Amino acid sequence: MASGSYRNGGPKPTSKLDRLPPSTAYSTPKPSAKPRPSAAPVPRRGGSVAPAAASAGKAGGDAGVPGRVRVAVRLRPRNAEETIADADFADCVELQPELKRLKLRKNNWESETYEFDELLTEFASQKRVYEVVAKPVVESVLEGYNGTVMAYGQTGTGKTYTLGRLGEEDTAARGIMVRAMEDILADTSPETDSVSVSYLQLYMESIQDLLVPANDNIAIIEDPKTGDVSLPGATSVEIRDQKSFMELLRLGEAHRFAANTKLNTESSRSHAILTVHVKRSLKGKHDADHGFPSENGTSSTLVKSFRPPIVRKSKLVVVDLAGSERIDKSGSEGHTLEEAKSINLSLSALGKCINALAENSPHVPVRDSKLTRLLRDSFGGSARTSLVVTIGPSPRHRGETASTIMFGQRAMKVENMVKLKEEFDYKSLCRRLDIELDKLMAENERQRKGFEDEIERIRTEADSRVAEVEKGYNYTLENERLKYQQDNMDSIKKLEEKWMANVNRARVEHQSACLEKAPTTSSSADIVEVRQLLQNEKLLRQSTEEVVVNLKREISHWKRLEAAGSSEIVKLRKMLDSEANQKHKLEEEIAILRSQLLQLSFQADETSRSLDRGESGKALTGFDSLVPQARHPQLRDSANGPKASIAKLFEQVGLQKILSLLESEDHDVRVHAVKVVANLAAEEANQDKIVEAGGLTSLLMLLRNSEDETIRRVAAGAIANLAMNETNQELIMAQGGIVLLSMTAADAEDPQTLRMVAGAIANLCGNEKLQTKLSVEGGIKALLGMVRCGHPDVLAQVARGIANFAKCESRASTQGNKVGVSLLIEDGALPWIVKNGNHDASPIRRHIELALCHLAQHEVNAKDMISEGGLWELVRISRDCSREDIRMLAHRTLISSATLQTELRRLHIEF
Ligand code: ADP
Ligand code: MG
Repeated sequence: MASGSYRNGGPKPTSKLDRLPPSTAYSTPKPSAKPRPSAAPVPRRGGSVAPAAASAGKAGGDAGVPGRVRVAVRLRPRNAEETIADADFADCVELQPELKRLKLRKNNWESETYEFDELLTEFASQKRVYEVVAKPVVESVLEGYNGTVMAYGQTGTGKTYTLGRLGEEDTAARGIMVRAMEDILADTSPETDSVSVSYLQLYMESIQDLLVPANDNIAIIEDPKTGDVSLPGATSVEIRDQKSFMELLRLGEAHRFAANTKLNTESSRSHAILTVHVKRSLKGKHDADHGFPSENGTSSTLVKSFRPPIVRKSKLVVVDLAGSERIDKSGSEGHTLEEAKSINLSLSALGKCINALAENSPHVPVRDSKLTRLLRDSFGGSARTSLVVTIGPSPRHRGETASTIMFGQRAMKVENMVKLKEEFDYKSLCRRLDIELDKLMAENERQRKGFEDEIERIRTEADSRVAEVEKGYNYTLENERLKYQQDNMDSIKKLEEKWMANVNRARVEHQSACLEKAPTTSSSADIVEVRQLLQNEKLLRQSTEEVVVNLKREISHWKRLEAAGSSEIVKLRKMLDSEANQKHKLEEEIAILRSQLLQLSFQADETSRSLDRGESGKALTGFDSLVPQARHPQLRDSANGPKASIAKLFEQVGLQKILSLLESEDHDVRVHAVKVVANLAAEEANQDKIVEAGGLTSLLMLLRNSEDETIRRVAAGAIANLAMNETNQELIMAQGGIVLLSMTAADAEDPQTLRMVAGAIANLCGNEKLQTKLSVEGGIKALLGMVRCGHPDVLAQVARGIANFAKCESRASTQGNKVGVSLLIEDGALPWIVKNGNHDASPIRRHIELALCHLAQHEVNAKDMISEGGLWELVRISRDCSREDIRMLAHRTLISSATLQTELRRLHIEF
């Protein structure tokens, strides 16, 4: 009872008088017999199989052939009761079998006429009923289609009589089940086909197994893909012969009776369903029809053997329904509610489904009951279905009869799509191939064994042949050997004979010769002599051989020594190479440094020159760095180049390395190094680092040790720069710097050297704490000594030193830290001070003017000032000095000193 799509392409609902088209004549046509125009192509019996269907495992892949449900009406003869009770009444129906019409009487005058596929009167034999109703379906089943034969009608109208009579007492009375099985068994063979049966009862929506009653409430399983239903829980019994089938039916009937007794019901309330499964193999037949094409189009035996056999699995379902009156009377006859519902449920659901199918309704309520689910294939499905509607003649049951007839009418409109249930039997193919494989393996085994035996035989034969040949060969070899031995001995013998003959002949000749010539004594003496000689020769040879051996031994000894020596040489050579390599590298490094130093010193000289040109009036010049940058911001730009380079060098090379170069063996390196250090020392920022790294000590060492004046000059310049800082001044003094500077001053010729030394001392003179030490260690004397060169730059530095010293001393005296005459005066500086008090060069003049003022401020110095002419100078300053501040200072000094005032007054100098 599948829904919609392929239903009812057949007759439209007939009116009561509508005739069915001739094609719908009851004898169920073979699918191929009368194809309808609208139908899909009818498959030939065992027709060709579409590959797609084959791959899906279904051999019959067609959509099916329309096949309407066939309906026959069977009228039961009046029974005894009816014969009596209804004796005065006519039957409620009149059959016109030749017209296939049934007239249902309404009353004495009116009747309604219905057409059916077949009308079976009360005289119709069981045989005829079978042939008309069931035989076409059975034949269809045997051909591979599903088939259904169903009886519908009021209880007691002969459904069971029609379907289930066993006919044991009278074979003519055999019903459809028995006759169907007879035909099935006659057409099938146990070798290729199998027939099995299940027998079920559906009661109150529960399926019971009539063959094994314990099997209760069997589940219906639906294939979700195909919608096919199956009952795996139902017992299926294989049928070999009619007898066993009859027994099975009897057993089923007995169980049905027992079950109904137990359930307190009767057979009319339950539906009985007999299913006959027929499975047929199409052996031999299919090869021609269902060929699997091989690749080259020809079918080989091998290809054939891989072809799965075709199997047709069809079933015949015989349904003996519960009495149709139950639908209407269930409420009125005192059934239990459950039972009534159940009876109603399945039968009324069947009625509804058939109505829906008949009317082409889009929804068919198949799932409403178990019966409709079981009969899904029978109505609206793929089965060929034949319905026998049983009616009774009694006018008393006219109502039931009428509704039964209407059911039959509607069922006639149900169109099925009959389909061949054919598929490939892969299981049997598999079994066949397994057997084939076993056979092939056995054959293979046998052949392999044969081959092995053959190989063994050939090997043995070969071995024996080889042995034979070897034997023959050895024999021949031995023969040959013996022959050659014999030949050899023969030839030796012949040679001996020849030799003997020769000896004899020689002897005879000799004897005759001796007899003729020499006496035998002389000849024996000769022999002795020759022997002696031979002996000597032997001895000589032996001693020579010994010498040779000794020499050889010595040679090998020397060779060994030589080898050792040459390996040593190779090693030394390698070391030499690596040394040379390293030396080369160092030389390169030195060259780089040297060039950097040269460049720097060049730049330094350049800068120095430019400073000389621009700053000739300043105290310290000629070495740009001698004057700290901070104090000469105007020099910054011009000096940036070398400064930057030096700073770079400082970074790259490192101070330690530069300082270490001060002690270089190489004179040039030392010169350049000291210049670099001097340049670095010009930067205030570097000064502490240089001192910390021992630069000051190194510079002082240079003053002490260097023969070279340039080095000394530059070192002194560097020291002068370092000496601008108080801490460094003390360090210089502590390390004997003043002595070294004095020594340098004494030896130097170059005014620039003197200028640097004087500058350094001048800086030291500015430190109050060092005054005494400076004087004691000869610093002032050294300063004064340097004036000998007369160079204004030197004189300026000397004047600056004296001024510094005088200023500090004056401050110390004022604070009471110093008593006594000025150390300057003690060291004999005053005459030079007085002499240069009015020097042309203003830097010199200024420093001296200041020094004079400072000296005069203290009474202890007054006497010397007066005696050395300092007073006159002071008076001049107080009158003529171009700088007002100094002029005023000189004036104040003169006024404040009592001694000087007295002297001035004594000299009548107005002040
Ligand atoms: P149902 O199965 O429909 O309830 P049954 O097959 O049990 O009816 O029949 C009821 C009675 O009528 C039985 O005694 C049966 O032998 C008898 N009967 C039914 N049909 C015929 C027939 N065609 N000829 C003779 N007797 C019949
Ligand atoms: Mg019955």
